[in-house]
Amino acid sequence: MSTEYISLHGGHSGQYCAHAKDQLEDIIREYIRQEFTCVGITEHAPPESDIFLYPDEIALNLTAKKLYAQFAGYFKELKRLKHKYRGKVKIYAGMETETVTGFEDHTHKLISKFVPDYIVGSVHHVKDICFDYSREKYETACAVCGSIDALYETYFDQQYKMINVLKPFVVGHFDLIRIFDDDYENRLLKANIADKIDRNLNLIKTLNLVMDFNLRPLAKGKKKPYIAASILKRARALNISLVPGDDSHGVNEVGGHVNIAIKILKKYGFETNWPEPKLFSLYIKDKQ
Ligand SMILES: [Zn+2]
Ligand SMILES: [Zn+2]
Repeated sequence: MSTEYISLHGGHSGQYCAHAKDQLEDIIREYIRQEFTCVGITEHAPPESDIFLYPDEIALNLTAKKLYAQFAGYFKELKRLKHKYRGKVKIYAGMETETVTGFEDHTHKLISKFVPDYIVGSVHHVKDICFDYSREKYETACAVCGSIDALYETYFDQQYKMINVLKPFVVGHFDLIRIFDDDYENRLLKANIADKIDRNLNLIKTLNLVMDFNLRPLAKGKKKPYIAASILKRARALNISLVPGDDSHGVNEVGGHVNIAIKILKKYGFETNWPEPKLFSLYIKDKQ
């Protein structure tokens, strides 16, 4: 039997995300058309306050309050779609989290309120600067940290903290910090950085979490997915599970390159019996 197509990170839609396009229902229909049997939809979590809005959200006059209301609408719509398309595709209602100052309490509250099926824990900020937003923001983050190496080290430290606090079922695009760095392959091997990567991988293994094999770079014309080959090998040696994530932000990106991801994972010897997403019970306790 051939391996089933899956994505556990993606399905961002223009309906609920300022930098995505298309309606969520059209995105779900496209997954069905491509014969996905199971898909995780992981819209970005709203910020706690306006100071953490992204530049494109500010330009659209969005506020933290509006984004929160939109996020509530997102879970409501997912519930409707889950029901409407039951029997055709199994939809997991997820969310992608942030790591800005105060994220611990804020994310915990969101999880208790909306009880998603699972979460994707991502780091898009270093010292509260959204380094993946543009090259300019990346350079600012670099300057604040003092060097590119220091930027990587700070990123992996923040990621370690996030994994410990949130225990996300999926750790999103583990090495996103290389996004604007042409020399990332060498940098990931530098002792100070490689040690932190090993530490984080060991934590992922101890907690039995899954890593996102993220295909967004391919959608943007780059050659290599996150995570880089050197990290892929270490994850394999530790027997960590990887699952493809198309990180789609519109119908045209749905399912993109998942076939390639599966081929690479098989080549490296990873299992392709995908694990079922779940939410760790530590969050649900709070609700009662
Ligand atoms: Zn996004
Ligand atoms: Zn992300």
